[in-house]
Amino acid sequence: MTADRVHRARSASPQPPVAFDVPYITRWSGEADGSMPMTYRRRGTGVAYTDERSFDRDEHGVLWARMPSQPGRGRPEYGSVHLLRQRLAMSGLRCQICGGPADRSAEGVLWLLDADPDDPTLWNGQERTAHPPVCMPCAVRSTSACPHLRRSFTVLRVRAFSPYGVRGALYGPTTGPPQAIDAVTLPFGDLRMPWMCAGQLIMRLTEFSVVDLESGSASLEGSR
Ligand SMILES: [Zn+2]
Repeated sequence: MTADRVHRARSASPQPPVAFDVPYITRWSGEADGSMPMTYRRRGTGVAYTDERSFDRDEHGVLWARMPSQPGRGRPEYGSVHLLRQRLAMSGLRCQICGGPADRSAEGVLWLLDADPDDPTLWNGQERTAHPPVCMPCAVRSTSACPHLRRSFTVLRVRAFSPYGVRGALYGPTTGPPQAIDAVTLPFGDLRMPWMCAGQLIMRLTEFSVVDLESGSASLEGSR
């Protein structure tokens, strides 16, 4: 489920979009990239900021892109994700749409993926997503706003999940200042991680059931 799809789904309704309807993780045009003066770590073992502070890295030692959070400034850029709010929503299990607590029941945390429930790759135990979870009202509104989109959504109750890694810019050693050479997803522990400037947190979903939102329960057929 992406922020722009939520917007498109809502755009089909007669109500004009209003500011508080903008998904929590959507980036606004007034939210500029933070200053990220890049340098090499000592002995060329990776990249760092020249003015790096302790909060620029997470508990894994991963360097994160700087992006001050100023929602409401400018206009919403549907389809663009605000990196810090994506990370906060994912790590804190907040709803990607309203920013409130994601729905949690005995069957697990509610997740809305833009995947076909019949897609066999969903069931190989390696589902990885950059989309944070959702709360029940936002899930219902998103999936009911545009009936033809319903079939491309898969609603999951996720019983087991864990941070997988990060998506971001991979830097390489060059003769000049550090330059980003690729946009990649790396798992935590990857030897290239010291060369990453992370943008989004990727979650691995390992135990989940497909949920029928209309009945509110997990379908046994879809359980894994
Ligand atoms: Zn919500």
